[in-house]
Amino acid sequence: MVSENLLKIKSTLPESVTLVAVSKTKPVSDIQEAYDAGHRTFGENYPQEMRDKHEVLPQDIQWHFIGHLQTNKIKYIIPYVTLIHSIDSANLLEAVNKEAKKHERVVDCLLQFHIALEETKFGLDLDEARQLLDSEAFKTMENVRICGVMGMATFTNDEAEVRKEFKYLKEIFDTLKTEYFANQPQFKEISMGMSEDYLIAIEEGATMVRVGSKIFGARNYNK
Ligand SMILES: *Cc1c(COP(=O)(O)O)cnc(C)c1O
Repeated sequence: MVSENLLKIKSTLPESVTLVAVSKTKPVSDIQEAYDAGHRTFGENYPQEMRDKHEVLPQDIQWHFIGHLQTNKIKYIIPYVTLIHSIDSANLLEAVNKEAKKHERVVDCLLQFHIALEETKFGLDLDEARQLLDSEAFKTMENVRICGVMGMATFTNDEAEVRKEFKYLKEIFDTLKTEYFANQPQFKEISMGMSEDYLIAIEEGATMVRVGSKIFGARNYNK
């Protein structure tokens, strides 16, 4: 089932779009099934859960951290994480930089933006991002690399609203690219779109989509 869902979704994606298979709350056996079908990029929301899965699954899996990250949990992911999608404060980026330095790594990160109507979703706004990128502290961070932006649309059936939010994230990306990253080819990722809206996200310029329930089935509990 998992592998069929996965291959079906992959067949609808342009080759340039990275599929992050969101496996949070799902058992290792489901991830192994997707792995055996050729998939290597998985997304998790909880640091200890990601660590536990990383320990028992094949080492060539690329683990993307997509959930809200507390500074005291960074240590569970830094040794092996491929990309952190959810940098939502200067403090968090600073703490990631510090832990990455201990492990002599440069960790790729996305800046998460608040684009939804709901107040509950985490993320920066454009001014906060500019403050971060202009700060002296940021200029001394040698163990993080900003590779783009991430956002979550409002949970709604209103397609026009969702599309508007994705367009806005694309605008933020273009603005930051021009202002800060014009000569930095690594700044190229727009992570947006989930099971219900990834096709809209791709139309609006997503380079990475994060799809969970459409691959692994509904989650039992709302984590
Ligand atoms: C859970 C989650 C997803 C995947 O959600 P689905 O609707 O199951 O595809 C994507 N992104 C983030 C940040 C998530 O927390």
